[in-house]
Amino acid sequence: MGDDIQDCCVLPEAIEARTLEIDSDRRAYSRRFIHSGEVIIRNLPTAHALLDEHQRERCSRCLSTTRRQSNSNDKNSLLRCGGCKQAWYCSRECQRLDFSLHKVECKEAPILLSLNDGHGSSNSKLLVRNFLALRLKNGKVNNNNCCQYCYGNDLRPRDVTIQCGKNHFEKLIQYGNGPLEDQETIDIRRAAQALWNQRKVLNKILMPEIDNYDDDADTETVVINDRSELEDQLERDMRRFRVNNFGVTDSLVRVIGGAVYPLGALLNHSCSPNCLVRYDLSSESSSQCHEPPVMELIAAQDIPIGEELTHSYIELVSSKKSRISNLKQMYGFDCFCPRCCRKKKANSDRTSLKDIGSNHKNDDFKIRLPNNYGSLSPTKLTRWILHNYNPAISNATMTNSTKGTSYLTSFDQDIIFKSLNENDPAIIEAIKVKQQQAKFFMMNGDLEDELSSLKEVVQILKQLTSASGEDQLPLSLELYQARCDRLGSLIVAGGQDNTKEALIECEHIVSFLCLALKHFPNHSLLGLQLFTLGDLYDSNRKSDEAQKTYVWARKNLQISQGRESEMVMLLNEKIVG
Ligand SMILES: [Zn+2]
Ligand SMILES: [Zn+2]
Ligand SMILES: [Zn+2]
Ligand SMILES: [Zn+2]
Repeated sequence: MGDDIQDCCVLPEAIEARTLEIDSDRRAYSRRFIHSGEVIIRNLPTAHALLDEHQRERCSRCLSTTRRQSNSNDKNSLLRCGGCKQAWYCSRECQRLDFSLHKVECKEAPILLSLNDGHGSSNSKLLVRNFLALRLKNGKVNNNNCCQYCYGNDLRPRDVTIQCGKNHFEKLIQYGNGPLEDQETIDIRRAAQALWNQRKVLNKILMPEIDNYDDDADTETVVINDRSELEDQLERDMRRFRVNNFGVTDSLVRVIGGAVYPLGALLNHSCSPNCLVRYDLSSESSSQCHEPPVMELIAAQDIPIGEELTHSYIELVSSKKSRISNLKQMYGFDCFCPRCCRKKKANSDRTSLKDIGSNHKNDDFKIRLPNNYGSLSPTKLTRWILHNYNPAISNATMTNSTKGTSYLTSFDQDIIFKSLNENDPAIIEAIKVKQQQAKFFMMNGDLEDELSSLKEVVQILKQLTSASGEDQLPLSLELYQARCDRLGSLIVAGGQDNTKEALIECEHIVSFLCLALKHFPNHSLLGLQLFTLGDLYDSNRKSDEAQKTYVWARKNLQISQGRESEMVMLLNEKIVG
């Protein structure tokens, strides 16, 4: 085991970084007991950029959706940059603060901002912004070790936000092997072209005044004078982006932009993580004002001292097979997390090292069900799961809601992610056709036919799932996804009958998520679906169930989105007493 290394960051007090000799990989460990819901890290990005499709909806600097301190009547519309007419701001202050990074975009809008190529790529913008952000401090390379910004008088962890400099960025690992994707190569060329076109202006800013130049060995002057050197630099940056970047998400967990958080990149991936990441976007309730989006690392559960801190780089509601292939494709590594290799023996140094600090028992990945689950209808099983997994029902026991059940069956969690009858391509094809039809009907505004197509998809998958053998739960990932599609359309359609159907689908969806996320119950996906379920109980006049479900949703969202988040505020209003 390596030493504490704090050469580049003022680390928050709750964590320490260690370098393991085996792969010279830096990792984060808990320095003390950390309570579930605690904010462990707050990190400002070195640079961030909105995805093209969200450019019009949000302030380019703080990502606020609403105008701030506006005296005009048009309170809701953001200010538009008069130069390029393709960047929006919540206030003059944000526009002023963003200009040092926006000016290249603004002049080179045809290259960087007018990208209607359908990729929604923000990487060329991000490359330019990151390049400038790390070099524009007083005309020298910004080699700052991390600075601390504090909000308020006392330094509680929540109030300490850390900003990293170029030294830290350049210590991030690169995606080393293999060629980049075509789009990434295009993005590098675009960024290089834009910076090259603006080099005269930039060199004036980047070249320090002779008077101000101090001979600090740590500073280097930068001048853009070699096109291919510039492209090489940007390619190295892109290879760091590839494996370290974060997708900034909004309150509905939709990705709205990309950002570089060097301190956040310290954490390893696990499919059974003990931390989660959320973003403090500028809003009226937020502590951020005119600041870029802060990444917050949150303890998703109680964490004992000395345990490795991990979060998930990928979607957790997916099969082991797709988790492993996604990680390989996007990040270039094999997952050795406890959930992925629990059945294998620790037969290599690497595997056993990865297991250090994880005290997961195999049981964490088992689901407990009544032993007569095989004879329960999907609806009965769903009710059982909802009752027994709801922490808002304090006297819930694992047996009291199913008559004649006194034993529990343990079930391998990955069973419900196993793909359905892949041997019957005709049925799979029929499902795909129905799904395409539904999409077509939706685009034509034909709600009735859309609903009947989506219903058929659910029916076919339901039959497939229950016919797929005794060991199979009447649940599957495909069925869950089909139910999500149908739920969305039923809610849009409205009306008494549709709302009733929507409630049934939502119950199935939530019970699936309870099982799929049993090892990670504070995932915001579950919290958001519980919120919807509460609303549907409410509109079906089941206010008792609605209240219990809202309490459960709030318990989750207080951790996954924060006590002051928009969603929790809404729930506080809905919960009586
Ligand atoms: Zn703003
Ligand atoms: Zn502009
Ligand atoms: Zn740093
Ligand atoms: Zn894994």
